[in-house]
Amino acid sequence: MSVIRPEAIAIIGSGPAAWTAAIYAARANLNPIVFEGEQMGTEGPGGQLMLTTDIENFPGFPEAITGPDLMARMKQQAEHYGTRVVSELVTAVDLRQRPFVLTPHYSAPITAHTVVVATGAAARWIGLENEIRLAKIGGGVSACAVCDGALPFYRNKRLAVVGGGDTAMEEALYLTKFASEVVIIHRKDKFRASKVMADRVLAHAKVRVEWNTVVVDVLGEDPISGLRLADTVSGATRDLDVGGLFVAIGHTPNTAFLGGQLELTPFNYIKVAPWRTVTSVEGVFAAGDAIDDYYRQAITSAGTGCMAALEAERWLAHHGIGESPMLDTAVAPVVIESATESVVV
Ligand code: FAD
Ligand code: NAP
Repeated sequence: MSVIRPEAIAIIGSGPAAWTAAIYAARANLNPIVFEGEQMGTEGPGGQLMLTTDIENFPGFPEAITGPDLMARMKQQAEHYGTRVVSELVTAVDLRQRPFVLTPHYSAPITAHTVVVATGAAARWIGLENEIRLAKIGGGVSACAVCDGALPFYRNKRLAVVGGGDTAMEEALYLTKFASEVVIIHRKDKFRASKVMADRVLAHAKVRVEWNTVVVDVLGEDPISGLRLADTVSGATRDLDVGGLFVAIGHTPNTAFLGGQLELTPFNYIKVAPWRTVTSVEGVFAAGDAIDDYYRQAITSAGTGCMAALEAERWLAHHGIGESPMLDTAVAPVVIESATESVVV
């Protein structure tokens, strides 16, 4: 009977964090395997940047690069150095035994000494057909004001923001730098956001709020021309001309498949030690938007992906698998305080 050896490192995800981790692990001769996921609704291989056009803030591309191009190049670079890619979701993990067990959607389970979880987060969308279509073609619909708000396309236009939480407040305030007017569309008669953020928004001369209102359709072939709104109290509909729509109704981190085996934050992001990528389970590292509800950028995801691969490499070397040129620094223990126990790594 042939025995399949455990992988040194398995990486789950396919955004900037996963491919950066793969590039580092491959160049460290760890022969990484990446599970890049499958297309499920708006989410799929390549991650969130597949849903956008020009990326102007990723260093190295002065003329901008499209999200899908950037992700294709990252994957190509990882494969160039020997990364193996499986186009499946990991549907379950067993982090209680070593080596760890990863169960893909269709193929047989694999084992791995270290795992990097880089499964990202999914921006929530309203779910309207023309909303998703226009987001994909760069037609004036986005789920990230910091990413897209400064594009020339959005300047000096009336922009709509949907949502009533802190994210919506932040996005609205950010957009006031570029828009002629920002209209927040919220389904209730008061914001869920913290008072300080809500007050700041309500006091801003460029912001107006449509209370008790939902978006029932996004208008325009390409680009967006307006929104069809419905009053949640009377049911009456009306159209509002806008030059852009920013959906800010929250994010869902892709961490459910972990089955509670890693410690999570109250908002279900993976908890890591400060300025590290170590999780509550030794040998499991996490990177990208799955650990980050604050920065949520491609470059920060790539940065933590790099950190995760370096930490996995050092951890493996520390445990006699592979070699790490930086082993000396790997012995410094970091303690992550868990609700149930302290883990020294
Ligand atoms: P993600 O990009 O979130 O990708 C993770 C992927 O992993 C998922 O899509 C999925 O395919 C895969 N996956 C999930 N679960 C599993 C599983 N169980 N098994 C296998 N695979 C799985 N940032 C910028 O810096 N500049 C921009 O201009 C910019 N524009 C944006 C525009 C929009 C519309 C959005 C929504 C975001 C934008 N961002 C931008 C933010 C940026 O996309 C994210 O910060 C970044 O993509 C996060 O990278 P990540 O590696 O954590 O994973
Ligand atoms: P959130 O608090 O869950 O708010 C989401 C908002 O979107 C809510 O107002 C919700 O309406 C609305 N919404 C949800 N689904 C909708 C739909 N389908 N159609 C229309 N509206 C919809 O999410 P968040 O704003 O992203 O914040 C998440 C957490 O991060 C919060 O704890 C927040 O405080 C924190 N955060 C903090 C900061 C900061 O401190 N600077 C910045 C960003 C986020 P209802 O109100 O009706 O439910």
